[in-house]
Amino acid sequence: MTQTAGKPALVTGASRGIGAAIARRLAAEGVLVAVHYGRRKADAEQTVASIEQAGGQAFAIRADLAADDALDTLFSELATGLAGRPLNILVNNAAVYADPDDPAAAQADGYVAGISEVTQEEFDRIFSVHVRAPFFVTQRCLPLLADGGRIVNISSAVTRIAWPLLPYAMSKGALEIMAPRLANELGHRGITVNTIAPGITDNTKTNTWLHDMPGAAEGVAAMTALRRLGQPSDIADVVALLASDDARWVTGQLVDASGGMALA
Ligand code: NDP
Repeated sequence: MTQTAGKPALVTGASRGIGAAIARRLAAEGVLVAVHYGRRKADAEQTVASIEQAGGQAFAIRADLAADDALDTLFSELATGLAGRPLNILVNNAAVYADPDDPAAAQADGYVAGISEVTQEEFDRIFSVHVRAPFFVTQRCLPLLADGGRIVNISSAVTRIAWPLLPYAMSKGALEIMAPRLANELGHRGITVNTIAPGITDNTKTNTWLHDMPGAAEGVAAMTALRRLGQPSDIADVVALLASDDARWVTGQLVDASGGMALA
């Protein structure tokens, strides 16, 4: 799949996990990748270094997507990195999680909380990163995005499977609304807009419980039709497909990438 070679991409939340895998996969196709991150500069630099070591091109850009001045920061750094080149691929991937390495972040996160424990501040934080940021990042990208470009939003299987992740799931539901409507609006420019919904993915930085809880990994694998844990590369490969010319006739779609998790 070489059709994406030389076409710049912005991947939000690419300092680690699935976003880093997406950045590496696109870079392996010859894409110049803007590796966006929030707090973890060292992780973002590691993503960039691993891309460069593999012969690819990338640069890191920082912006806290929950902050009011996020877009000015992001697009100023993006413009510097692109140096006048148009953008071809936007992947809205960044998301808020509880982080066991950062008790403050874990506390300020509605990921596992039931409705009674979620504060308005936590709710707003999740929606600002998962809904407001993709909306306005996409809006600001449109003048930079070449005709025939690609927009891929990363949602979650939690919009299909009723796990107790209420604000998180609600925000991803809102994100999923974007693709079909924006696909209609941007189709005349050949721009496609799609959503990928991963299932539980073996991201050692966030899903530590998969390995810490006895039987968790086996239990999650058993929930999938394909009987294994999803890997970040499983998601990255689907992004690469949707970003390629091979997927030029696919737009406005929600693509489940969960190995067939909890199929009805
Ligand atoms: P990670 O927690 O590993 O990474 C999240 C990324 O988002 C990091 O790069 C982080 O940057 C960035 N980010 C978080 N908050 C902000 C913020 N306020 N401003 C800017 N950047 C921010 O997530 P995953 O790799 O696990 O998830 C990636 C995507 O996949 C998400 O959209 C998630 O909802 C989805 N998904 C994941 C699943 C899983 O099992 N892992 C399952 C289903 C969907 P930094 O660390 O630098 O702050």
